[in-house]
Amino acid sequence: MPLPFDCRDGVLHVEDVPLPAIAAAVGTPTYVYSTAALRASARAFRAGLAAVPRKQLAFAVKANPNLAVLTLLAAEGYGADIVSAGEMLHALAAGMPARSLIFSGVGKTRRELAAALDAGIGQFNLELEEEGVVLAAMAAARGERAPAVLRVNPDVDAGTHAKISTGRKQNKFGVAIADAGAIYARLATLHGLDLRGIAIHIGSQLSDLGPLEAAYARIGRLVAELRAAGHAITHVDLGGGLGLAYRPEEVMPSPAAYGAMVARVTRDWDVTLLFEPGRFIAGDAGVLLTEVLWVKPGAVDPYVIVDAAMNDLARPALYDAYHDFVAVRPSGARMTANIAGPVCESGDTFAMGRDIDDVAAGDLAVFRTAGAYGATMASTYNCRALVPEVLVDGDRFALVADRITPAAMLAAQHLSPWMADEAAVPREAA
Ligand SMILES: *Cc1c(COP(=O)(O)O)cnc(C)c1O
Repeated sequence: MPLPFDCRDGVLHVEDVPLPAIAAAVGTPTYVYSTAALRASARAFRAGLAAVPRKQLAFAVKANPNLAVLTLLAAEGYGADIVSAGEMLHALAAGMPARSLIFSGVGKTRRELAAALDAGIGQFNLELEEEGVVLAAMAAARGERAPAVLRVNPDVDAGTHAKISTGRKQNKFGVAIADAGAIYARLATLHGLDLRGIAIHIGSQLSDLGPLEAAYARIGRLVAELRAAGHAITHVDLGGGLGLAYRPEEVMPSPAAYGAMVARVTRDWDVTLLFEPGRFIAGDAGVLLTEVLWVKPGAVDPYVIVDAAMNDLARPALYDAYHDFVAVRPSGARMTANIAGPVCESGDTFAMGRDIDDVAAGDLAVFRTAGAYGATMASTYNCRALVPEVLVDGDRFALVADRITPAAMLAAQHLSPWMADEAAVPREAA
């Protein structure tokens, strides 16, 4: 099978669609996703876990909440890990059964908890004791028991970027593992909760299985302690975090290696395991298509100014993240350049002093591995349009998220009523 992102006759294609055709139809910048790539990663992750007897797969919606993407993943048997009522709305709209939804997140509001109870979601991942108390009271008032697990912070350094590390004791997530037994015991007495296990998620973009294995081993000991204390533990949520190769030379753990480690560590647990992959599923399935606006001389290297910016793809500005940059019609020539967007921030820089395909004004190029934490983090900073999204399937493509224009955003703004009156009076006349 041909690669989903491949050069054919000198032109970069997504499946059977040449990227210039998408640029002509939709304009740039735009995200472009491959159906085949999305399905392939969803199936590879599931296949890697073949040795795990009882499991539930929940795509982390925050990685890519696009309705078309979620609909494809629902068809692959994925539920969703959601962190807001907004993400719940997207997952339900994509046809994911409410029972397949897991509600994570350190700051769920009472309104969101009520909405999730209304919808009948499958599991609440409690981040602190008080949240469990509030949820139990809300469920009991409805004559229900909310299915829940307690998120534990295992105090493991995931060895990833500090801003996407979540399992060290100084992070805001979960309850300290040392306190977990006592908190679990108190929550287990509440009638409004069907407390059934433990959740962890130690971070994202993990390049090494070691920290995950260390965290899982700690959770295994906790499960044994909780059972010894008389609790029925039937579910353990192992979170997400599997990393992706953003650089061509990077080597990341395969889903098969991850699955083998999970099967080995959890062999005696006798629980249903839940998995919440995000980046691994969507990251490689998308690119950000952009046009080179100018090539500008710089103090050391020239600046390639592209029409995509930090508001469209925030990861480089947020985490110093690397996204491979390749020309849509590579000539074979190379250049050393800085790559930057039009936003008025020095942080709006995608790369410095990088060896890239030689490009000139008017050329198209892509940032690769942009299907996860790409469009979902986009903003309208500098009154730029909200970046659109396109889905490719074979030789077909379609806009699956509109470009929200500055005019549409302006239409959502209003003067205050008193300004509307006073604005009619010129200042000098007042
Ligand atoms: C972000 C997140 C995930 C997904 O992480 P990836 O690194 O994208 O796999 C899973 N679970 C929780 C609780 C998260 O916050």
